[in-house]
Amino acid sequence: MSSPIKAYLVGGGIGSLAAAAFLIRDGGIEGKQIVILEAAALLGGAGDAERGYSMRGGRMLTTDNYECTWDLFRSIPSLAQPAMSVYEETLAFNQQHASHAKARLIDQRRAKPAVASMGFSMQDRLELLKLSSAEETALGSSCITDHLSPEFFQTRFWLMWATTFAFQPWHSAVEFRRYLHRFMLEFTRIETLAGVKRTVLNQYDALVRPLQHWLEAKGVQLWSDCTVTDLDHKIADGEFVVIGLHCTLKGRHESLILADGDLVFVQNGSMTDASSLGSMHAAPARLGKAHNGGWTLWEKLAEARPSFGKPAVFNSSVARSEWTSFTVTLKDPAFFDQMQSLTGNEAGTGGLVTFKDSNWLLSIVLAHQPHFANQPPDVQVFWGYGLFSDRIGNYVAKPMDECTGAELLQELRGHLRFDPSTTQTANCIPCRMPYITSMFLPRSAGDRPPPVPPGTRNFAFISQFVEVPLDTVFTVEYSVRAAQMAVYQLLGISRTIPPVTPHDASLHVRFEALLKALS
Ligand SMILES: Cc1cc2nc3c(=O)[nH]c(=O)nc-3n(C[C@H](O)[C@H](O)[C@H](O)COP(=O)(O)OP(=O)(O)OC[C@H]3O[C@@H](n4cnc5c(N)ncnc54)[C@H](O)[C@@H]3O)c2cc1C
Repeated sequence: MSSPIKAYLVGGGIGSLAAAAFLIRDGGIEGKQIVILEAAALLGGAGDAERGYSMRGGRMLTTDNYECTWDLFRSIPSLAQPAMSVYEETLAFNQQHASHAKARLIDQRRAKPAVASMGFSMQDRLELLKLSSAEETALGSSCITDHLSPEFFQTRFWLMWATTFAFQPWHSAVEFRRYLHRFMLEFTRIETLAGVKRTVLNQYDALVRPLQHWLEAKGVQLWSDCTVTDLDHKIADGEFVVIGLHCTLKGRHESLILADGDLVFVQNGSMTDASSLGSMHAAPARLGKAHNGGWTLWEKLAEARPSFGKPAVFNSSVARSEWTSFTVTLKDPAFFDQMQSLTGNEAGTGGLVTFKDSNWLLSIVLAHQPHFANQPPDVQVFWGYGLFSDRIGNYVAKPMDECTGAELLQELRGHLRFDPSTTQTANCIPCRMPYITSMFLPRSAGDRPPPVPPGTRNFAFISQFVEVPLDTVFTVEYSVRAAQMAVYQLLGISRTIPPVTPHDASLHVRFEALLKALS
């Protein structure tokens, strides 16, 4: 009798966790047959009120899209309310705390410029319509700036769209076009972020922890501090078949031998690779890909195998992919109170507030409190980021990525014109992420492998660096969809993967969006 199939998942991001859940729920694989190998010492975890909280990013989701994510989280019970699924819990939370930003932009006069009109000229409208109706093949590896004139990047639309989704003018025109189509509904409400859904707590506590809990209860093994350094393979009937894995587990070299039929899923590359934290008194260290080795396995596998993609397209230009974020822990409500009176939004209802004239293009988000499962009631936490972290600030004569937490707060207070007393109790932890928008860099067809590359038998990639037709990277949905595609293809599961909702095909939506573009 042959032994049951085992599955090895390299990387412990949400993509791998989702794949493990699909293997169990839809593939009938027993949890104890699944091993997740993660290089980081901890799977998630985000500080406490004393040391200060830290999150690399806030999370914006929608319920009009994110089809695979909700398909998954309809099956995962909430930790706080086990009678509800995470999906139901999130929906109920958003009904109570709907997003409706009243201060999406703030200018250098500390005023809220009108945002109902997008500020387009006729030329902007024509160029935008032309770009959104072009075929991906025609756009090739071009940049957004190849299609839109300099004036477009001064419009309110660009400021709001770019800071909502973290686009830079030099990013991929294909990706920007995908966003215009995928998030066409947001086009009509980008100024209030009314379509945005938030998780009850930060992404780790609200999505990852319940999923991890469900997987562990099913017997899935999660190995942390375990870097997979290489795969052994053979060629059988012309197909690439993985037969072994080499890893460094808590400093020791280990080899795992695969049996016939076993499966391997690899998270190739990571947008958070080489990210580093600073403190109130220290800027984050300047790390690069050599420090973490998060790209190394993909680089090894892709060498001389064009069907495995081209990592160098995504990891060779930190100057075009880096930005810095920061998380602030406060023990005095003064900052939140003053933000509420400035913006007109209670925390959790406003979404991003962008300082449109800031050299760093600084934005902050005050989420509903508490934002962490272990956050005491008298503590508040907020998050912010700057798209241009290599520029000198307006109130601090330093590039953002060289600033300490105290200097970031000084810059922020300058834009807000808040007294130093509002951040007297603050602990601001900066986070530098050199590859955070690497998946937006201009690419050509074939630079990203499909989840299951052609000519492979038991092997798949799951990440932001695989090709998923129509879908948009820099979303949880992309990683979950890639996971579902990989698992279904390798196991031959016939259940339908929820398709990308064709909002852009609806005449009604297109008409609304067109009206908006013409305003
Ligand atoms: C700042 C920020 C803001 C975001 N905002 C949003 C948002 O608003 N909305 C939204 O939908 N999404 C958002 N996202 C994106 C979303 O969080 C990502 O899509 C998701 O986290 C990526 O998950 P992943 O599993 O594909 O990859 P990752 O989380 O990058 O996981 C890959 C893992 O693989 C590990 N690994 C790599 N190589 C090896 C190896 N050889 N051996 C062992 N382990 C290895 C890495 O250590 C890493 O933990 C945001 C992300 C960030 C960072």
